[in-house]
Amino acid sequence: MNLKKFYINGEWIDPVKSETIDIINPADETIIGKLSVGSSEDIDKAVQAAKGAFPSFAETSVKDRLDLLTTIRNIYKRRFDEIAEAIMTEMGAPTRLASGSQAMVGLSHLKTAIRVLEEHKFEYQHNGYTVRHEPIGVCGLITPWNWPINQIVSKLGPCLASGCTAILKPSEIAPLSANLIAEIIHEARAPAGVFNMVHGIGPVVGEAMSSHPDIDMMSFTGSTRGGIAVAQASAKTVKRVSQELGGKSPNIILDDEVFAKSITDGVNSTMSNTGQSCNAPTRMLVPVDRHDEALEIAKTAANKLITGNPKNENTDIGPLVSQTQFDKVQRLIQAGIDEGATLVTGGMGKPDNLKNGYFVKPTVFGNVTNNMEIAKEEIFGPVLSVIPYTSEDDAIKIANDTEYGLAAYVSGKDNERMKALARKIRAGQIHLNHGSAGANAPFGGFKQSGNGREKAEWGLEEFLEVKAIMF
Ligand code: NAD
Repeated sequence: MNLKKFYINGEWIDPVKSETIDIINPADETIIGKLSVGSSEDIDKAVQAAKGAFPSFAETSVKDRLDLLTTIRNIYKRRFDEIAEAIMTEMGAPTRLASGSQAMVGLSHLKTAIRVLEEHKFEYQHNGYTVRHEPIGVCGLITPWNWPINQIVSKLGPCLASGCTAILKPSEIAPLSANLIAEIIHEARAPAGVFNMVHGIGPVVGEAMSSHPDIDMMSFTGSTRGGIAVAQASAKTVKRVSQELGGKSPNIILDDEVFAKSITDGVNSTMSNTGQSCNAPTRMLVPVDRHDEALEIAKTAANKLITGNPKNENTDIGPLVSQTQFDKVQRLIQAGIDEGATLVTGGMGKPDNLKNGYFVKPTVFGNVTNNMEIAKEEIFGPVLSVIPYTSEDDAIKIANDTEYGLAAYVSGKDNERMKALARKIRAGQIHLNHGSAGANAPFGGFKQSGNGREKAEWGLEEFLEVKAIMF
């Protein structure tokens, strides 16, 4: 794989300047390759290509764009194993997760983008005038490393479906799977300039995109800090900015006969992807009188998880993505200990026999209060905070007492009781007993978890302008 070139105007080309960074396999800390990191000059070239391609791509028929997306999907299917392997190598997802979820979800997003494009009404009559949905223009897509293909395809599918042209800046930490996407789009014969990709560092390449006068929209997924920087740089040119940011999601465990299963499911969901999911249920709220019982169940569940080499079929938890992430998670585990939370299992340091690679111990804290740092900060590691509540009202108060609002979970037996609680939680997706609507439900946050909605109809509408034509 050529990590030294960028994909601009239908070709793999050399960067304007030659600067590289090392790409590291987090499972063994070896250098996988050197990645060119771009500059504002590379972005200028990509924008020129995307701007040049926009007028004709915007006018393509729905059928043409359906053909393009279907071809992309077919090539993706053929190269599925390569994509899963790339994700495993670049960010350490265990092989079962890399293929069963991380790579699989790309196919779901493409399938949904195709369905939505087939069904969408781009022009209709309304109250005596005509409403048209038109592509917004040149779109800058910035994505993180934690679900690298999920984030890229959940933007790119609707972006191409809408008739917009794109410049992708994938995470500089996980560029391998992004390169495969560029190869797939090239093989699918997308018209030159419709899709472009420049690798690089956020504050350089991402900043050049956000402030570029010829980019019409920025779709950003990443940290709240990064999302704020993109919005600030975009403000000068009044771009639309769609933000998908961090989270600190609550999981209210109800006091009923499925209690043990609810706790176990909550632990597994928190630890999955080594805790590096924006919507992980990291704050587990349990009835105060069953708190100690909850800790015992959580401890058993966490200790059952197998941390190890992502290549092994039985591995549940791989390494964290980087040394930076490892250091951050260690600092926050120490903060939990220092603040007086009860360390139930896990803790500081690497697991036995895993001294190479950024492995950490699945960690559970009990007796956490919602004002502790471990309850407030997005740790982005396999660390669960168990917080006692005294009543349902208290649980809702704790659940909503966060600057985030991406996801929330309610786990129990009675659907109506869970739904009633769901209505009171200020978050974009509420999972009852970890239910999921896959790529068909709107995904996005309240409060500082962002302002965008991805997936399905809502994901397409992000890339469309609304025009009224009247007599
Ligand atoms: P990050 O913000 O450090 O980086 C994300 C992307 O933004 C990268 O491509 C990076 O290069 C770029 N970037 C960084 N600073 C930038 C700047 N100043 N201007 C423009 N671009 C910039 O985040 P990360 O560490 O890669 O990812 C983890 C974060 O992403 C977590 O906070 C997680 O919750 C969040 N996330 C959110 C969602 C969601 O849909 N809400 C999904 C996945 C991850």
